[in-house]
Amino acid sequence: FNNVSAPIRQLHRIYDEVNDALIYSESFFEILEADDQIEPSGNYIPESITGLIELKNVSFSYPNGHEALRNVSMTICPNENTALVGLSGAGKSTVINLLDKFYDASKGQILLDGVDLREYNTAFLREHVGLVLQKNHIFKGSIAENIRYGKVNATDEQIIAAAEQAFIHEQIMELPNGYDSQANLLSGGQQQRIAIARMFLKNPPIIFLDEPTANLDAIATEQIKNSLDAIKVGRTVITVSHSISQIIDAEHILVMEKGEVVEDGSHEDLYALHGVYHKIFSAMANSLNIQKITHSMNLD
Ligand code: ADP
Ligand code: MG
Repeated sequence: FNNVSAPIRQLHRIYDEVNDALIYSESFFEILEADDQIEPSGNYIPESITGLIELKNVSFSYPNGHEALRNVSMTICPNENTALVGLSGAGKSTVINLLDKFYDASKGQILLDGVDLREYNTAFLREHVGLVLQKNHIFKGSIAENIRYGKVNATDEQIIAAAEQAFIHEQIMELPNGYDSQANLLSGGQQQRIAIARMFLKNPPIIFLDEPTANLDAIATEQIKNSLDAIKVGRTVITVSHSISQIIDAEHILVMEKGEVVEDGSHEDLYALHGVYHKIFSAMANSLNIQKITHSMNLD
């Protein structure tokens, strides 16, 4: 027994060390920056960001040579909720990687409020862009510390307000230690809402949601719907999701296939096209019905 548990303890120790390193580094992006492929940051710092995003004939290949985007053009309007829809591998996350300046476009141009992304100061950009991914970044430490990550000098009141906005405050208060409870005790859906609370605290004008409910079951997905709806209000939002409600809520839908944008319009327009969107949407609706049937069978 001891022979087995020693390596496991060892693994735990390594995990803790990595986690500590994450906590003590100044921001989450510092960690990612180690992996950055981009040129040195530009120095453009505008007074404010409106949130108009334009991709003009953007092509991109990953460092290993894999071409993930081919001649992609799109316009993301300020204060609008745009959904990126497509099968796995279509290039949705790659678009978000480029918008976040984790990589530079190989060809073409990406403009934010009419200015090339390359000219922006990277730190400024990341302060004004929020990212919620499918794997939430919950660090070792308390719930309060994990929310404070959105704004290091936030007061306790601001942290509570952010948790309320993300519809997680009441569940935090039910824990024996409230906001001082360890964040890793939370369920996947609750951790996602912590990540969203962090965004409320950060309050960026632009938010990217890359499959925020991908790791959650149907019930947890339903539970974080309110938080997701709330964080979208009054911001420029790009949502990548396989959840029907997240897609239907979007005012603008871009459909990607094999690194290209193949359809662009509203849900009604694209559904009527009977093309790629129609096919994907119908498949999602079918699987939803199957889930409903299975669920009702379980209840019987
Ligand atoms: P999606 O988010 O739509 O599922 P991605 O943007 O993640 O798709 O991936 C698009 C394509 O790029 C896929 O073929 C994927 O395998 C490839 N890809 C993604 N990330 C990398 C990477 N870091 N290096 C090389 N290829 C990658
Ligand atoms: Mg993806």
